[in-house]
Amino acid sequence: MTACPVCLQKMQASRAGVGLHHIECRQCGTYFVSASVLGKIKNAEFSPRSRANFSGWLIENQGFQIDTRNIDRLLNLSTPSFHERADKALLLIEIGTPYAGKHVQRENSWVSRVWCINEEELTEILQYLVSCARIEKHSSEHGLQYKILPNGWAHLEELKSFGRDSVQGFVAMWFDDSLRKLNDEIISQAILDAGYKPHRVDQREHNDKIDDEIIAQIRQSRFVVADFTGHRGGVYFEAGFAKGLGMEVFWTCRRDEIDKLHFDIRQYNCIDWESANLGEFRERLTNRIEAVLGHGSYNQE
Ligand SMILES: [Zn+2]
Repeated sequence: MTACPVCLQKMQASRAGVGLHHIECRQCGTYFVSASVLGKIKNAEFSPRSRANFSGWLIENQGFQIDTRNIDRLLNLSTPSFHERADKALLLIEIGTPYAGKHVQRENSWVSRVWCINEEELTEILQYLVSCARIEKHSSEHGLQYKILPNGWAHLEELKSFGRDSVQGFVAMWFDDSLRKLNDEIISQAILDAGYKPHRVDQREHNDKIDDEIIAQIRQSRFVVADFTGHRGGVYFEAGFAKGLGMEVFWTCRRDEIDKLHFDIRQYNCIDWESANLGEFRERLTNRIEAVLGHGSYNQE
């Protein structure tokens, strides 16, 4: 094996262990892949976008072991939005910046770190950051360099102004007995599968009232999963509050109620569910969370 099975670039190293290959790739970093799924990766009909997502996910989850339990999820990751990728690029430049005002050298590995298909797409995203004056481009004899501008520093502060290092996922939903199973067995489990800790406000205390405790819990979270089934005012408020903080919100709703969604949130990509396909819904929610935020570090012992 000379090429990385995920990104197809020439690998730095590969070692075959007992049923497990250890791969070092310039784009994907270090990962392990079990012999049983290696063929599946090689034979998968990958679009360039799926490869880019897979590679981007791996570089954010170094040392990950790909096996039969997670391969389908990794082959079908959803793509972070353009703006989310632009944020990844800005954060990447920040990491490389030793002090404000210093230029940072562009590196080949940025392609996967920004979840791009190729250098051309990466250039387009960096050019966007230049055009909104978050960064400045400089051509040097060593290649392209970038410097974070005041607008960029301000945007970085905004990005970090809520629980960005938190492993908590806040669940906003209607606390009706008919939806208890949805929370306990599906949404909470999907959040755990993605490596985060679900937080659900205690049912007795909730009563659709928004209090300081709820506001504080949302602020301390990394993201919100909002299920709009039942169309409760509290859920709209909690999702809107999180969105206003710049926090990631994952929108879900029972399929037969999706047409009733308030007009303002129809623009968001809502994951629908039916009682008959809850297992699939759980998987799609996990995929979406991981695609956007990467796998979290929370371990349920
Ligand atoms: Zn690779």
